[in-house]
Amino acid sequence: MHTDSADTTVHPTPLEERITQDPARFRILTGDRPTGRLHLGHYFGTLHNRVRLQNLGVETFVIIADYQVLTDRDLADDLTGHVEELVLDHFAVGVDPARSTIFTHSAVPALNQLLLPFLSLVSVAELSRNPTVKDEIAHSRQAAVSGLMFTYPVHQAADILFCKAGLVPVGRDQLPHLELTRTVARRFNERYGAGIFPEPEALLSRAPVLLGTDGTKMSKGRGNAIALAASPDDTARLIRGAKTDAERHIHYDPERRPEVSSLLLLAALCQDRAPEEIADEIGALGSAALKKVVTESVNEYLAPVRARRAEYARDRAQVRRVLREGNERARAVADATLAEVRTAMNSDY
Ligand code: ATP
Ligand code: MG
Repeated sequence: MHTDSADTTVHPTPLEERITQDPARFRILTGDRPTGRLHLGHYFGTLHNRVRLQNLGVETFVIIADYQVLTDRDLADDLTGHVEELVLDHFAVGVDPARSTIFTHSAVPALNQLLLPFLSLVSVAELSRNPTVKDEIAHSRQAAVSGLMFTYPVHQAADILFCKAGLVPVGRDQLPHLELTRTVARRFNERYGAGIFPEPEALLSRAPVLLGTDGTKMSKGRGNAIALAASPDDTARLIRGAKTDAERHIHYDPERRPEVSSLLLLAALCQDRAPEEIADEIGALGSAALKKVVTESVNEYLAPVRARRAEYARDRAQVRRVLREGNERARAVADATLAEVRTAMNSDY
């Protein structure tokens, strides 16, 4: 196993450099909730990094967090459909099941069993101050906040630590959860003296929070997202309706002009250029011209992704096979970790 488990010291070398120097030393775990199609926020926030690292030779685990669908709703509707669509989104962007393990956490009992000792390592006060959880509660569809909503960041620690991942490519909303995972790992190691778990590092992208068409974080649940699988016409319509501001001249200024800047960043990521450069070209032409550039950039960038997705969607049996195999592999890894945990906790009867 190529884990980063002994590697918890402060490093003088920047993360990217350490990864490129020795990709086989790292293992990544990252994933999404099966609550709908993946969108551009996912892609530029984390999927792009997943594929890049996989292709560099970093061992990659992609979790489909099916239990976590229930954090902010009573029922997980069309769960099987959403799970399969998520797998297709991953195939389409270049996640290769021969090199990456794609699995659902509900299918891995030993992973879920880690939740119990992990819960004992955090306080209710720590769980209550998590800013991402507070934001999600504000946007929740439920009248009352469930226990799962407060505890899912600990479950996420189990998702990350069961495979001893040292690296987690995520969007900015995940940073409090990553911090909690580091705390759980550290406290477990301190309390049980075993040095079992690494303290994983977050890997942010150039777009740690891509905004949606309404100017808030692009999110599946908020009706403001552009799905990777959207048609070119739908993409054009959604971008045409995106919120901008009253200033005509186009500048890149994320602090003062977040909506315009997020659109510029989106075009820049698709064209692999600097957002300031694109802003200079549009300048006085205003937001209609900006939206035209963004639409063309997105549709051009996504054309091959969409074509591959349509191709893969014809073979549902392959999707199910990849999940079966991924679940099996994740179960083997989780069983091994749980065995170590039980020995460390002196509950190996
Ligand atoms: P939901 O509304 O169902 O919670 P979501 O769009 O917030 O969906 P998640 O499945 O919660 O998506 O997030 C999966 C991963 O994608 C996380 O690493 C998260 O940080 C990242 N991500 C989600 N939205 C964005 C965004 N707008 N910008 C950057 N990263 C994002
Ligand atoms: Mg979310």
